Amino acid sequence: MKVTLLGTGDATSVPAPLCDCEYCLESDRRRHPSVLVEAGGERLLLDVGPDLQEQLHEVDVRDIDGAFLTHAHGDHSSGVPAIGQTAKWDGDHLDSVDELEPTPEDFDPGYDLHLTETAHSHIDDWYGDLDRWLIPVHIDDWETVTVGDCEITAVPVEHHRPHARTLGFLVEHRGRSVCYAPDMRQWLDGPPEEGAAVLGQPVHGPRGELRAAIEATDAGRVVLVNVNEHIQRKHTAQLGQIARESGYELGADYNVYEV
Ligand SMILES: [Zn+2]
Ligand SMILES: [Zn+2]
Repeated sequence: MKVTLLGTGDATSVPAPLCDCEYCLESDRRRHPSVLVEAGGERLLLDVGPDLQEQLHEVDVRDIDGAFLTHAHGDHSSGVPAIGQTAKWDGDHLDSVDELEPTPEDFDPGYDLHLTETAHSHIDDWYGDLDRWLIPVHIDDWETVTVGDCEITAVPVEHHRPHARTLGFLVEHRGRSVCYAPDMRQWLDGPPEEGAAVLGQPVHGPRGELRAAIEATDAGRVVLVNVNEHIQRKHTAQLGQIARESGYELGADYNVYEV
């Protein structure tokens, strides 16, 4: 299983807009959160953020087999209008402006967009028209979706933002597993399973609480994402040192992990 971190930043990202602090000026860029998992010939996109166009072109990915949203916060979901518009115009390209009336039946993006009913409702309110061009499929806590040989399980997490019901995703393929849980303070219902690699982040609660949640998984490898030098007022090297002291790795954009 190949895991590519497309974005390891958060809602602000690094450098933060409209900021010239030393942490912004001296840190590598961190794009908004997204991860690509490739296994058994399938490509899964976990979170569809506002940097999606750049991220997918950077790794030369032009098709996916499934998309999954952890929750509807903009940094994880605001690439949805772009993939919706892509699906809308993916059939016969426009020959003239007179043909601005494609019908949903003519267009199939070739993948489902998995998200909670709550996230779907928020996205419908914000972006509208989602149903017309994408194939939203509701996913519930602990439900498992199969894409090719991959099994993707929705793991409920406590995000500490009551309006935003939030998931992590456990992706399993032939005995290998990776869990992506970018906005979590702790598991809502216990960890997904032993032996999973975990991508977590240190902002959404006391550091000790997240550490306990990570340790409960007995993960073989922990990579921190959703990191922000600007907000944490630390240089990348300092964050890396803090991560290492806990036995974790600090993620960086476009890092690739073979799991
Ligand atoms: Zn800054
Ligand atoms: Zn969030």
